[in-house]
Amino acid sequence: MHNWTKMPAAAVLVIALFLGIPYASFAQSTRYDLLLKGGHVIDPANHIDEVRDVGVLQGKIAAVEKNIPADQARKVVDVSSLYVTPGLIDIHYHVGNGGAPLNWFAPDARAHALPLGIPADLALQSGVTTIVDAGTSGAETFLQEKEEVIDRARVRVLAFLNIVANGMSGGLEQSLDQMDVKLCVDTIKKYPDLIVGVKTAHYWTGGPWDGEHVPWAAVDRAIECGILTNSPVMFDFWPRPERTYEDLILTKMRPGDIHTHVFAQQFPIILPDGKINPALAQARARGVIFDVGHGAGSFWFRNAVPAQKQGFIPDSISTDLHMGDYLTVSMNNVMSKFLAMGVPLEDVVRRSTINPAKEIHRPDLGTLSIGQDADIAVLELTQGHFSYSDCGVAKMDANIRLLARMTIRAGRISYDPSGLSMVEWEKARPQYFTIPDRGESLPARADDYPRD
Ligand SMILES: [Zn+2]
Repeated sequence: MHNWTKMPAAAVLVIALFLGIPYASFAQSTRYDLLLKGGHVIDPANHIDEVRDVGVLQGKIAAVEKNIPADQARKVVDVSSLYVTPGLIDIHYHVGNGGAPLNWFAPDARAHALPLGIPADLALQSGVTTIVDAGTSGAETFLQEKEEVIDRARVRVLAFLNIVANGMSGGLEQSLDQMDVKLCVDTIKKYPDLIVGVKTAHYWTGGPWDGEHVPWAAVDRAIECGILTNSPVMFDFWPRPERTYEDLILTKMRPGDIHTHVFAQQFPIILPDGKINPALAQARARGVIFDVGHGAGSFWFRNAVPAQKQGFIPDSISTDLHMGDYLTVSMNNVMSKFLAMGVPLEDVVRRSTINPAKEIHRPDLGTLSIGQDADIAVLELTQGHFSYSDCGVAKMDANIRLLARMTIRAGRISYDPSGLSMVEWEKARPQYFTIPDRGESLPARADDYPRD
Protein backbone atom coordinates (compact mmCIF):
# COMPACT_ATOMS: atom_id res chain seq x y z
CA MET A 1 0.00 0.00 0.00
CA HIS A 2 1.39 3.38 -0.95
CA ASN A 3 1.58 6.07 1.64
CA TRP A 4 -0.03 8.83 -0.40
CA THR A 5 -0.05 11.38 2.37
CA LYS A 6 3.76 11.61 2.57
CA MET A 7 4.25 12.24 -1.14
CA PRO A 8 4.41 15.73 -2.62
CA ALA A 9 1.02 16.76 -3.99
CA ALA A 10 2.36 17.04 -7.54
CA ALA A 11 3.65 13.47 -7.43
CA VAL A 12 0.34 12.22 -6.14
CA LEU A 13 -1.43 14.06 -8.92
CA VAL A 14 0.81 12.53 -11.58
CA ILE A 15 0.30 9.02 -10.19
CA ALA A 16 -3.42 9.57 -9.82
CA LEU A 17 -3.76 10.77 -13.39
CA PHE A 18 -1.62 7.85 -14.60
CA LEU A 19 -3.86 5.38 -12.80
CA GLY A 20 -6.96 7.17 -14.02
CA ILE A 21 -8.14 7.87 -10.48
CA PRO A 22 -9.73 11.25 -9.72
CA TYR A 23 -7.27 13.41 -7.82
CA ALA A 24 -9.94 14.30 -5.29
CA SER A 25 -9.66 10.79 -3.86
CA PHE A 26 -6.10 11.49 -2.76
CA ALA A 27 -6.44 14.98 -1.39
CA GLN A 28 -4.80 14.88 1.98
CA SER A 29 -7.17 13.83 4.76
CA THR A 30 -10.16 15.23 2.90
CA ARG A 31 -13.15 12.97 2.65
CA TYR A 32 -15.26 15.38 0.62
CA ASP A 33 -14.78 17.61 -2.41
CA LEU A 34 -17.47 19.94 -1.13
CA LEU A 35 -19.09 20.52 2.24
CA LEU A 36 -22.25 22.59 2.67
CA LYS A 37 -22.05 23.62 6.28
CA GLY A 38 -24.73 24.72 8.72
CA GLY A 39 -27.79 24.70 6.46
CA HIS A 40 -31.26 23.53 7.41
CA VAL A 41 -31.63 20.35 5.38
CA ILE A 42 -35.11 19.42 4.15
CA ASP A 43 -35.07 16.01 2.49
CA PRO A 44 -38.61 14.64 2.73
CA ALA A 45 -37.69 11.32 1.14
CA ASN A 46 -35.34 10.62 4.06
CA HIS A 47 -37.46 12.33 6.75
CA ILE A 48 -34.80 14.97 7.43
CA ASP A 49 -35.91 18.46 8.50
CA GLU A 50 -33.14 19.92 10.67
CA VAL A 51 -29.68 21.49 10.57
CA ARG A 52 -27.20 19.08 8.94
CA ASP A 53 -24.00 19.31 6.93
CA VAL A 54 -23.91 17.80 3.43
CA GLY A 55 -20.72 16.26 2.03
CA VAL A 56 -20.20 15.71 -1.71
CA LEU A 57 -17.57 13.42 -3.19
CA GLN A 58 -16.96 12.81 -6.89
CA GLY A 59 -20.33 14.21 -7.86
CA LYS A 60 -22.32 12.07 -5.42
CA ILE A 61 -23.95 12.69 -2.06
CA ALA A 62 -21.45 11.27 0.44
CA ALA A 63 -22.78 12.38 3.84
CA VAL A 64 -25.75 14.16 5.41
CA GLU A 65 -24.73 14.45 9.05
CA LYS A 66 -24.51 16.78 12.00
CA ASN A 67 -21.23 18.67 12.51
CA ILE A 68 -18.93 17.36 9.80
CA PRO A 69 -15.52 18.96 10.52
CA ALA A 70 -14.63 21.63 7.96
CA ASP A 71 -11.11 20.23 7.51
CA GLN A 72 -12.56 17.09 5.95
CA ALA A 73 -13.44 18.93 2.75
CA ARG A 74 -11.46 20.61 -0.02
CA LYS A 75 -14.11 23.28 -0.29
CA VAL A 76 -16.47 24.46 2.43
CA VAL A 77 -19.50 26.65 1.78
CA ASP A 78 -21.22 28.31 4.72
CA VAL A 79 -24.96 27.93 4.14
CA SER A 80 -26.11 28.73 7.66
CA SER A 81 -29.47 30.56 7.72
CA LEU A 82 -30.28 28.94 4.36
CA TYR A 83 -32.18 25.79 3.43
CA VAL A 84 -30.53 22.86 1.67
CA THR A 85 -32.84 20.58 -0.30
CA PRO A 86 -32.55 17.97 -3.03
CA GLY A 87 -32.30 19.61 -6.45
CA LEU A 88 -35.85 20.54 -7.40
CA ILE A 89 -37.78 18.69 -10.10
CA ASP A 90 -40.05 20.58 -12.50
CA ILE A 91 -42.14 18.01 -14.37
CA HIS A 92 -43.89 20.51 -16.63
CA TYR A 93 -41.39 22.51 -18.70
CA HIS A 94 -40.99 23.16 -22.42
CA VAL A 95 -37.74 22.99 -24.38
CA GLY A 96 -37.03 22.90 -28.09
CA ASN A 97 -39.10 24.03 -31.03
CA GLY A 98 -42.22 21.91 -30.80
CA GLY A 99 -43.84 20.74 -34.00
CA ALA A 100 -42.94 21.75 -37.53
CA PRO A 101 -45.31 24.34 -39.01
CA LEU A 102 -47.98 23.21 -41.45
CA ASN A 103 -46.43 25.24 -44.26
CA TRP A 104 -42.92 23.91 -43.57
CA PHE A 105 -42.41 22.78 -47.17
CA ALA A 106 -44.25 25.61 -48.91
CA PRO A 107 -42.05 27.70 -51.22
CA ASP A 108 -42.70 30.86 -49.24
CA ALA A 109 -42.39 29.20 -45.82
CA ARG A 110 -40.20 30.93 -43.31
CA ALA A 111 -37.11 29.01 -42.40
CA HIS A 112 -38.16 28.13 -38.87
CA ALA A 113 -41.20 28.01 -36.67
CA LEU A 114 -41.05 30.26 -33.66
CA PRO A 115 -39.75 28.14 -30.82
CA LEU A 116 -42.16 27.12 -28.08
CA GLY A 117 -39.58 26.06 -25.54
CA ILE A 118 -37.12 28.11 -23.54
CA PRO A 119 -33.49 27.25 -22.68
CA ALA A 120 -33.38 24.19 -20.45
CA ASP A 121 -30.66 25.62 -18.21
CA LEU A 122 -32.81 28.58 -17.14
CA ALA A 123 -34.31 26.10 -14.69
CA LEU A 124 -31.05 26.13 -12.73
CA GLN A 125 -31.89 29.68 -11.60
CA SER A 126 -34.59 28.23 -9.36
CA GLY A 127 -32.60 25.38 -7.83
CA VAL A 128 -34.11 22.97 -10.34
CA THR A 129 -31.76 20.15 -11.40
CA THR A 130 -34.23 17.99 -13.34
CA ILE A 131 -36.84 19.21 -15.80
CA VAL A 132 -39.32 17.13 -17.74
CA ASP A 133 -40.35 18.44 -21.11
CA ALA A 134 -44.13 18.15 -21.21
CA GLY A 135 -44.77 16.90 -24.71
CA THR A 136 -43.23 19.69 -26.74
CA SER A 137 -42.02 16.93 -29.04
CA GLY A 138 -43.72 13.89 -30.46
CA ALA A 139 -42.31 10.76 -32.08
CA GLU A 140 -41.28 12.59 -35.25
CA THR A 141 -39.62 15.55 -33.56
CA PHE A 142 -38.10 13.96 -30.43
CA LEU A 143 -34.73 13.18 -31.99
CA GLN A 144 -34.22 16.85 -32.82
CA GLU A 145 -35.11 17.84 -29.26
CA LYS A 146 -32.73 15.21 -27.93
CA GLU A 147 -29.79 16.28 -30.07
CA GLU A 148 -30.34 20.04 -29.81
CA VAL A 149 -31.38 20.31 -26.15
CA ILE A 150 -31.33 17.19 -24.00
CA ASP A 151 -27.82 16.03 -24.93
CA ARG A 152 -26.36 19.52 -24.40
CA ALA A 153 -28.09 20.76 -21.28
CA ARG A 154 -26.42 21.07 -17.90
CA VAL A 155 -29.72 20.48 -16.15
CA ARG A 156 -31.03 16.91 -16.43
CA VAL A 157 -33.76 16.84 -19.09
CA LEU A 158 -36.35 14.07 -19.34
CA ALA A 159 -39.52 14.10 -21.43
CA PHE A 160 -43.15 13.19 -21.76
CA LEU A 161 -43.69 12.29 -25.42
CA ASN A 162 -46.63 13.97 -27.13
CA ILE A 163 -49.13 11.44 -28.53
CA VAL A 164 -49.17 13.76 -31.56
CA ALA A 165 -46.23 12.63 -33.68
CA ASN A 166 -45.44 16.15 -34.87
CA GLY A 167 -45.48 17.51 -31.33
CA MET A 168 -46.90 20.73 -29.98
CA SER A 169 -47.81 23.98 -31.73
CA GLY A 170 -46.85 22.95 -35.23
CA GLY A 171 -50.45 22.98 -36.38
CA LEU A 172 -51.12 19.24 -36.43
CA GLU A 173 -52.35 18.70 -32.85
CA GLN A 174 -55.97 18.33 -34.02
CA SER A 175 -55.22 15.61 -36.55
CA LEU A 176 -56.27 12.06 -35.68
CA ASP A 177 -53.71 10.75 -38.17
CA GLN A 178 -51.01 12.32 -36.05
CA MET A 179 -52.05 10.45 -32.88
CA ASP A 180 -50.10 7.38 -33.84
CA VAL A 181 -49.99 4.93 -30.92
CA LYS A 182 -47.46 2.61 -32.52
CA LEU A 183 -45.02 5.42 -33.30
CA CYS A 184 -45.44 6.70 -29.74
CA VAL A 185 -44.77 3.24 -28.24
CA ASP A 186 -41.76 2.59 -30.47
CA THR A 187 -40.17 5.94 -29.59
CA ILE A 188 -40.67 5.53 -25.85
CA LYS A 189 -39.13 2.06 -26.02
CA LYS A 190 -36.19 3.46 -27.96
CA TYR A 191 -35.34 6.04 -25.29
CA PRO A 192 -36.28 4.43 -21.97
CA ASP A 193 -33.79 6.54 -20.00
CA LEU A 194 -35.14 9.84 -21.33
CA ILE A 195 -38.86 9.46 -21.97
CA VAL A 196 -40.86 9.02 -18.77
CA GLY A 197 -44.42 9.05 -20.11
CA VAL A 198 -46.98 10.34 -22.61
CA LYS A 199 -48.55 13.79 -22.94
CA THR A 200 -51.78 14.92 -24.55
CA ALA A 201 -52.85 18.56 -24.84
CA HIS A 202 -54.98 21.16 -26.57
CA TYR A 203 -57.29 18.77 -28.40
CA TRP A 204 -60.42 20.29 -29.94
CA THR A 205 -61.44 22.66 -27.19
CA GLY A 206 -64.36 24.37 -28.95
CA GLY A 207 -65.12 23.25 -32.51
CA PRO A 208 -68.03 21.02 -33.59
CA TRP A 209 -67.62 17.26 -33.30
CA ASP A 210 -67.36 15.30 -36.56
CA GLY A 211 -65.68 12.20 -37.96
CA GLU A 212 -62.25 13.75 -37.53
CA HIS A 213 -62.91 15.20 -34.10
CA VAL A 214 -64.36 12.89 -31.47
CA PRO A 215 -64.41 13.89 -27.81
CA TRP A 216 -61.98 11.39 -26.29
CA ALA A 217 -59.67 10.69 -29.25
CA ALA A 218 -56.52 12.29 -27.86
CA VAL A 219 -57.12 11.03 -24.31
CA ASP A 220 -57.84 7.45 -25.42
CA ARG A 221 -54.83 7.21 -27.68
CA ALA A 222 -52.49 8.66 -25.09
CA ILE A 223 -53.77 6.12 -22.55
CA GLU A 224 -53.30 3.33 -25.06
CA CYS A 225 -49.65 4.33 -25.47
CA GLY A 226 -49.32 4.59 -21.67
CA ILE A 227 -50.69 1.07 -21.20
CA LEU A 228 -48.41 -0.43 -23.85
CA THR A 229 -45.30 1.23 -22.35
CA ASN A 230 -46.31 0.93 -18.68
CA SER A 231 -45.82 4.66 -18.28
CA PRO A 232 -47.91 7.53 -16.91
CA VAL A 233 -49.89 9.93 -19.09
CA MET A 234 -49.93 13.67 -18.37
CA PHE A 235 -53.22 15.34 -19.35
CA ASP A 236 -53.74 18.92 -20.46
CA PHE A 237 -57.53 18.89 -20.83
CA TRP A 238 -60.47 21.11 -21.73
CA PRO A 239 -63.83 19.82 -20.43
CA ARG A 240 -66.92 19.99 -22.65
CA PRO A 241 -70.44 18.60 -22.13
CA GLU A 242 -69.50 15.49 -24.11
CA ARG A 243 -66.31 14.93 -22.10
CA THR A 244 -66.57 16.20 -18.55
CA TYR A 245 -63.81 16.73 -16.04
CA GLU A 246 -65.37 14.13 -13.76
CA ASP A 247 -65.31 11.59 -16.61
CA LEU A 248 -61.62 12.27 -17.06
CA ILE A 249 -60.47 11.95 -13.45
CA LEU A 250 -62.99 9.32 -12.26
CA THR A 251 -63.19 7.05 -15.30
CA LYS A 252 -60.55 7.61 -17.96
CA MET A 253 -57.38 8.28 -15.96
CA ARG A 254 -55.50 5.32 -14.52
CA PRO A 255 -53.77 5.27 -11.12
CA GLY A 256 -50.51 7.18 -11.57
CA ASP A 257 -51.75 9.30 -14.46
CA ILE A 258 -51.24 13.03 -13.96
CA HIS A 259 -53.72 15.85 -14.42
CA THR A 260 -51.63 18.98 -14.96
CA HIS A 261 -53.00 22.58 -14.84
CA VAL A 262 -55.32 21.55 -11.99
CA PHE A 263 -56.07 25.16 -10.92
CA ALA A 264 -56.79 26.41 -14.47
CA GLN A 265 -59.96 28.42 -15.08
CA GLN A 266 -61.81 25.66 -16.96
CA PHE A 267 -62.05 23.11 -14.15
CA PRO A 268 -64.89 22.88 -11.60
CA ILE A 269 -62.50 22.75 -8.64
CA ILE A 270 -64.73 24.87 -6.40
CA LEU A 271 -68.49 24.30 -6.70
CA PRO A 272 -71.05 27.16 -6.58
CA ASP A 273 -71.57 26.59 -2.84
CA GLY A 274 -67.88 27.26 -2.20
CA LYS A 275 -67.09 23.63 -1.40
CA ILE A 276 -64.36 21.73 -3.16
CA ASN A 277 -65.55 19.32 -5.84
CA PRO A 278 -65.78 15.90 -4.13
CA ALA A 279 -64.58 14.29 -7.37
CA LEU A 280 -61.03 15.43 -6.53
CA ALA A 281 -60.91 13.31 -3.37
CA GLN A 282 -62.57 10.39 -5.17
CA ALA A 283 -59.98 10.61 -7.95
CA ARG A 284 -57.16 10.73 -5.41
CA ALA A 285 -58.53 7.60 -3.78
CA ARG A 286 -58.19 5.95 -7.21
CA GLY A 287 -54.54 6.98 -7.41
CA VAL A 288 -54.95 9.92 -9.81
CA ILE A 289 -52.16 12.52 -9.49
CA PHE A 290 -52.70 16.30 -9.60
CA ASP A 291 -50.00 18.69 -10.82
CA VAL A 292 -49.86 22.50 -10.87
CA GLY A 293 -48.46 23.32 -14.37
CA HIS A 294 -48.88 27.06 -13.65
CA GLY A 295 -48.03 28.51 -17.05
CA ALA A 296 -49.51 31.56 -18.70
CA GLY A 297 -53.08 30.34 -18.45
CA SER A 298 -53.45 27.64 -15.83
CA PHE A 299 -53.37 29.09 -12.31
CA TRP A 300 -56.23 31.01 -10.69
CA PHE A 301 -56.19 31.96 -7.02
CA ARG A 302 -60.00 31.57 -7.02
CA ASN A 303 -59.41 27.82 -7.41
CA ALA A 304 -56.11 27.42 -5.58
CA VAL A 305 -56.81 29.31 -2.35
CA PRO A 306 -60.18 27.74 -1.43
CA ALA A 307 -58.85 24.30 -2.43
CA GLN A 308 -55.82 24.68 -0.19
CA LYS A 309 -58.00 25.91 2.69
CA GLN A 310 -60.12 22.77 2.33
CA GLY A 311 -57.06 20.55 2.40
CA PHE A 312 -56.45 19.92 -1.28
CA ILE A 313 -52.85 20.59 -2.36
CA PRO A 314 -51.61 19.32 -5.74
CA ASP A 315 -49.22 16.37 -5.52
CA SER A 316 -46.52 18.15 -7.53
CA ILE A 317 -45.58 21.77 -8.15
CA SER A 318 -44.49 22.64 -11.69
CA THR A 319 -44.18 25.68 -13.90
CA ASP A 320 -45.25 24.97 -17.51
CA LEU A 321 -42.43 27.32 -18.52
CA HIS A 322 -42.42 28.24 -22.21
CA MET A 323 -41.95 31.28 -24.41
CA GLY A 324 -45.27 32.73 -23.29
CA ASP A 325 -44.62 32.94 -19.55
CA TYR A 326 -40.93 32.89 -18.70
CA LEU A 327 -40.84 36.55 -17.66
CA THR A 328 -43.46 35.94 -14.97
CA VAL A 329 -43.22 32.35 -13.85
CA SER A 330 -40.39 30.40 -12.24
CA MET A 331 -40.24 27.35 -10.00
CA ASN A 332 -39.39 29.56 -7.01
CA ASN A 333 -42.27 31.90 -7.86
CA VAL A 334 -44.79 29.03 -7.98
CA MET A 335 -43.41 27.47 -4.78
CA SER A 336 -43.63 30.89 -3.09
CA LYS A 337 -47.33 31.10 -3.98
CA PHE A 338 -47.99 27.87 -2.11
CA LEU A 339 -46.00 29.12 0.89
CA ALA A 340 -48.06 32.33 0.72
CA MET A 341 -51.26 30.27 0.76
CA GLY A 342 -50.09 28.65 3.99
CA VAL A 343 -48.53 25.37 2.86
CA PRO A 344 -45.55 24.55 5.13
CA LEU A 345 -42.07 24.71 3.57
CA GLU A 346 -41.36 21.00 4.13
CA ASP A 347 -44.56 20.18 2.26
CA VAL A 348 -43.73 22.55 -0.60
CA VAL A 349 -40.28 20.96 -0.91
CA ARG A 350 -41.80 17.46 -0.86
CA ARG A 351 -44.11 18.42 -3.74
CA SER A 352 -41.12 19.81 -5.67
CA THR A 353 -38.72 16.89 -5.13
CA ILE A 354 -39.63 13.33 -4.18
CA ASN A 355 -43.30 13.55 -5.20
CA PRO A 356 -42.62 14.47 -8.84
CA ALA A 357 -39.70 11.98 -8.85
CA LYS A 358 -42.09 9.17 -7.94
CA GLU A 359 -44.68 10.39 -10.46
CA ILE A 360 -42.17 9.88 -13.28
CA HIS A 361 -41.02 6.54 -11.81
CA ARG A 362 -37.60 7.95 -10.87
CA PRO A 363 -37.48 7.69 -7.06
CA ASP A 364 -33.68 7.88 -7.29
CA LEU A 365 -34.14 11.60 -8.00
CA GLY A 366 -35.38 14.27 -5.62
CA THR A 367 -33.46 12.97 -2.59
CA LEU A 368 -30.18 13.53 -0.79
CA SER A 369 -29.68 9.79 -0.33
CA ILE A 370 -26.06 8.66 -0.04
CA GLY A 371 -24.62 7.60 -3.39
CA GLN A 372 -27.11 9.50 -5.57
CA ASP A 373 -26.04 12.30 -7.90
CA ALA A 374 -25.25 15.41 -5.84
CA ASP A 375 -28.16 17.47 -7.16
CA ILE A 376 -28.71 20.13 -4.51
CA ALA A 377 -30.61 23.40 -4.12
CA VAL A 378 -29.65 26.06 -1.58
CA LEU A 379 -32.73 28.18 -0.90
CA GLU A 380 -33.36 31.41 0.97
CA LEU A 381 -36.68 32.09 2.70
CA THR A 382 -37.34 35.78 3.19
CA GLN A 383 -40.06 37.49 5.25
CA GLY A 384 -41.28 40.82 3.93
CA HIS A 385 -43.93 42.49 1.80
CA PHE A 386 -44.50 40.60 -1.44
CA SER A 387 -47.31 40.11 -3.93
CA TYR A 388 -48.00 37.34 -6.41
CA SER A 389 -50.07 37.36 -9.59
CA ASP A 390 -52.22 34.70 -11.23
CA CYS A 391 -53.28 34.03 -14.81
CA GLY A 392 -56.56 35.91 -14.39
CA VAL A 393 -54.47 39.04 -13.75
CA ALA A 394 -55.44 39.13 -10.09
CA LYS A 395 -52.93 39.36 -7.26
CA MET A 396 -52.44 38.17 -3.71
CA ASP A 397 -50.41 39.92 -1.04
CA ALA A 398 -48.02 37.80 0.97
CA ASN A 399 -45.25 38.00 3.53
CA ILE A 400 -42.92 35.28 2.31
CA ARG A 401 -40.65 34.54 -0.65
CA LEU A 402 -38.47 31.58 -1.58
CA LEU A 403 -35.45 32.14 -3.80
CA ALA A 404 -32.62 29.88 -4.92
CA ARG A 405 -29.15 31.05 -3.93
CA MET A 406 -27.11 28.16 -5.32
CA THR A 407 -27.72 25.13 -7.53
CA ILE A 408 -25.45 22.09 -7.66
CA ARG A 409 -25.86 19.52 -10.42
CA ALA A 410 -23.94 16.23 -9.99
CA GLY A 411 -21.47 18.03 -7.73
CA ARG A 412 -20.78 20.94 -10.11
CA ILE A 413 -21.74 24.39 -8.95
CA SER A 414 -24.07 25.41 -11.77
CA TYR A 415 -25.61 28.56 -10.32
CA ASP A 416 -24.17 30.86 -7.68
CA PRO A 417 -24.80 34.46 -8.70
CA SER A 418 -24.16 35.91 -5.24
CA GLY A 419 -20.91 34.03 -4.80
CA LEU A 420 -21.92 31.91 -1.80
CA SER A 421 -19.17 29.48 -2.71
CA MET A 422 -16.59 32.14 -3.61
CA VAL A 423 -13.97 34.14 -1.74
CA GLU A 424 -14.01 37.91 -1.52
CA TRP A 425 -12.05 39.19 -4.47
CA GLU A 426 -9.37 40.92 -2.39
CA LYS A 427 -8.63 37.59 -0.70
CA ALA A 428 -8.38 35.55 -3.90
CA ARG A 429 -5.31 33.46 -4.64
CA PRO A 430 -2.53 34.93 -6.82
CA GLN A 431 -3.82 33.36 -10.05
CA TYR A 432 -6.89 35.58 -9.89
CA PHE A 433 -4.72 38.70 -10.24
CA THR A 434 -2.80 37.52 -13.29
CA ILE A 435 -3.31 38.71 -16.87
CA PRO A 436 -3.64 35.75 -19.26
CA ASP A 437 -1.16 36.03 -22.13
CA ARG A 438 -3.37 34.26 -24.67
CA GLY A 439 -7.06 34.05 -25.39
CA GLU A 440 -6.89 30.29 -25.02
CA SER A 441 -5.30 30.46 -21.57
CA LEU A 442 -7.18 29.13 -18.56
CA PRO A 443 -9.17 31.91 -16.95
CA ALA A 444 -7.70 33.68 -13.95
CA ARG A 445 -10.01 32.26 -11.29
CA ALA A 446 -10.10 32.41 -7.53
CA ASP A 447 -10.56 28.64 -7.20
CA ASP A 448 -10.68 25.57 -9.41
CA TYR A 449 -13.78 23.89 -8.06
CA PRO A 450 -15.86 22.51 -10.99
CA ARG A 451 -18.39 25.13 -12.07
CA ASP A 452 -20.56 25.95 -15.04
ZN1 LIG B 1 -47.30 22.92 -21.07
